[in-house]
Amino acid sequence: MKFSKLIVVKNWKRYKSGSICITDGFFSEKSNDKINIDCNELIAYPSLINCHDHLVGNWLPKTAKNRPYKNTSVWVEDMKTSGSVIERNKFWTGNLSNLMENDGICMAMLGIYKNIFSGVTIVQDHIPVQNDEYYQSFPIEVISQYRQGHSITLGNWWGGMSLEDEMAETHNKIPFVIHLAEGIDDSAKSEFVALERMNLLRQNSLLVHCTAFTKSELKKIKDVDANIAWCPNSNIFLLDTTLDIDTILDLDINISLGTDSTLSGSINLLKELLFTKKLFSQLTPQLLFKMVTENPAKALKLKNYNGKIEIGKDANLLLTKKVTENPYENLLNIESKDIMLLLYRGIPIYGCVDFLKYFSWEAKNYFMFETDEEKMFVIGHPEEILMKIYKALGTQKHFDYIPFS
Ligand SMILES: [Zn+2]
Repeated sequence: MKFSKLIVVKNWKRYKSGSICITDGFFSEKSNDKINIDCNELIAYPSLINCHDHLVGNWLPKTAKNRPYKNTSVWVEDMKTSGSVIERNKFWTGNLSNLMENDGICMAMLGIYKNIFSGVTIVQDHIPVQNDEYYQSFPIEVISQYRQGHSITLGNWWGGMSLEDEMAETHNKIPFVIHLAEGIDDSAKSEFVALERMNLLRQNSLLVHCTAFTKSELKKIKDVDANIAWCPNSNIFLLDTTLDIDTILDLDINISLGTDSTLSGSINLLKELLFTKKLFSQLTPQLLFKMVTENPAKALKLKNYNGKIEIGKDANLLLTKKVTENPYENLLNIESKDIMLLLYRGIPIYGCVDFLKYFSWEAKNYFMFETDEEKMFVIGHPEEILMKIYKALGTQKHFDYIPFS
């Protein structure tokens, strides 16, 4: 199929008017059928990558009764007894080591919808590594090839092996993800030394937060070509500060944006982009775009998607309305309702119902709803999750990231 009359953002440096062809789930040179979709000046982006989330943590409202914290290990304990988590526990209390038990998949799907409604088709879900069935349950990609640690300070309290054993399992080929230096106190500051001592600073390390790191420590991160995941909204909510972005930019460290869960972070990745732009004017819209496409593709070691529109690669496509002339700025100004079509490997995930007629699809696999302007579809059945939550709580629960609830 061919999508024509588009503004095509091929990557963080280049865009132009043109068309896109998709064949068998891949971006292709030509279309192998006669389907030609006039997109009337919509903007086409490679779909977005959320480099840090906790899918089962996407309850609301965000919570931090003793903020600002000097170290988020204190928040982790506060969070467990917060009103939000107590309410979530009425719906779901599961074992983080095995989310296929106790309907954990239903809770994780709620987090998947947060991502889908913000143009994301690939998510790094920071939890202990689950069985294959978990990762095969989702309509978009949840990174399955990784190992992890919760943090240096708390270790793997939530499940998994020792941090060293987890790293050993990566064989330096898949990401090792860990929260790091998420605070401003001596404990947070000491984590870099511990990271080095435990031999966890490597090119496949994805270091989340890094708030307490000094310039010389960041230089060492660059020296081994490790990666950083940045969640500025979560950091500033919990700590009133965030990492040293200017040094990271000067050193050209591979840095990607993530939302964290909504218990501490942004409502979704589009809101994270906007928040970051407002606070850090030195970040251009192009650079922010790179932080949700090419940079996380590299950090997560994706095989057939580089966060670009590239012939032969997975057709992960985001078509949006044009609300701002410059397409990179446009991404900072759109909301869920401005997404006209989201494809994951060529499969329609979310968008305007008018597009469905170009695909082979079954009505039972989609939920339809209306916004003020459009009739929309989304894959799966989020309304059934909301009904389960309603039954568990005895009242309606609204999630700001769901555009119809
Ligand atoms: Zn986190």
